[in-house]
Amino acid sequence: MLLKRRDLLKGTCASLVYSLFPHRTRAGQSDLLPKRILGRTGVEVAVLGYGAMQVSDPAIIRHGLELGINYIDTADCYMGGRNEKVVGKAVAGIRDRVVIATKVHIAKESRMRRSVDRSLASLGVQRIDLMQLHNLRSREQVVRKDVQDVLTKMKQEGKLRFTAVTTHSNQTEVLEAVVEDGFYDAVLVAVNFRSPKKLFDTIEKAAAAGVGIIAMKTQNGGFKDKDAPELTPHQASLRYVINKPGVHVAVPGMLSKKMIAENLEAASRKIDLADVVRLENFRKDLVGRACSFCSSCIDQCRYGVGGLDVARTRMYVEGYDDRDLALSNGRAVLSNIRLCATCEGCTVRCNQGIDIQVSAQQVYRFIS
Ligand code: SF4
Ligand code: SF4
Repeated sequence: MLLKRRDLLKGTCASLVYSLFPHRTRAGQSDLLPKRILGRTGVEVAVLGYGAMQVSDPAIIRHGLELGINYIDTADCYMGGRNEKVVGKAVAGIRDRVVIATKVHIAKESRMRRSVDRSLASLGVQRIDLMQLHNLRSREQVVRKDVQDVLTKMKQEGKLRFTAVTTHSNQTEVLEAVVEDGFYDAVLVAVNFRSPKKLFDTIEKAAAAGVGIIAMKTQNGGFKDKDAPELTPHQASLRYVINKPGVHVAVPGMLSKKMIAENLEAASRKIDLADVVRLENFRKDLVGRACSFCSSCIDQCRYGVGGLDVARTRMYVEGYDDRDLALSNGRAVLSNIRLCATCEGCTVRCNQGIDIQVSAQQVYRFIS
């Protein structure tokens, strides 16, 4: 270990002071954000996007947009449908300068159409830039022609510009299928400094094949460093992902102007040695608490379930501090969580040290 924790904290403090009192002007800040082309969409995006999922004040999002962010991620189901309305207010008058990405679940055509129409109305826009299929887990879902036909029709009707998928599990398989199939323009993928090398390699190959790559969960779902709860290594985590080949834009959630300032600073410069040390300490601190979305538990589980649904629901409580989100997410995958909680004995070894069955029992009690 080259640096000790106190050195690490000094570095973090310095970053925080910098971000709170940036020497650059507010107008100039936007120039600091590198821009990239989002794969075959051809759209230019700043590397720092906006994960709007938990934001209820449009003025906070607008503040980020004024500082150079031009990509917003939302979904019809966030905040019980209110989140898209918040985003709609945030982009009012500047809609043409912003790339809006929202989501739809795979369903019957009529249901998918109702969802997209609701999104258009909530956002107050004529067209959605990126329509993403929610939470795909397999190649079979990626290649479904009936779903692609529905999206194509809505594209022809002018309701959306580009199509994409989001994934939290079996991500490598989903990314490879998107490349091979060639229909979708982009993938929203859960990736952070604890993700397996294979995922980063697949991201790089997908980007080389023209797939736009949007990174989420870049900061481990908001888990705090136990020893320094106010001084989290989130900047280093974000910087790590943004500097990985193939990643075009990251969409961390930002609930305050302070968080926006921190992330702008993080996204504006390269990763350095202090960041590497900071992440190594954070990595140790997260063992047993935070999922890395590696999916290896799904392959090991005799029921093909694994601990991802449990870990994700727990992340919404402990990391995001959002009980409503945890409840709605957990109840959507209740059967998987119940199966884990009542399983006759877990034989899965989580490589992040999470006790899946104990976690499942806690999460099950919380949501039921
Ligand atoms: S619960 Fe563990 S094994 Fe399963 S995806 Fe998360 S980190 Fe990987
Ligand atoms: S508790 Fe049972 S269902 Fe859950 S991951 Fe372990 S073996 Fe699979």
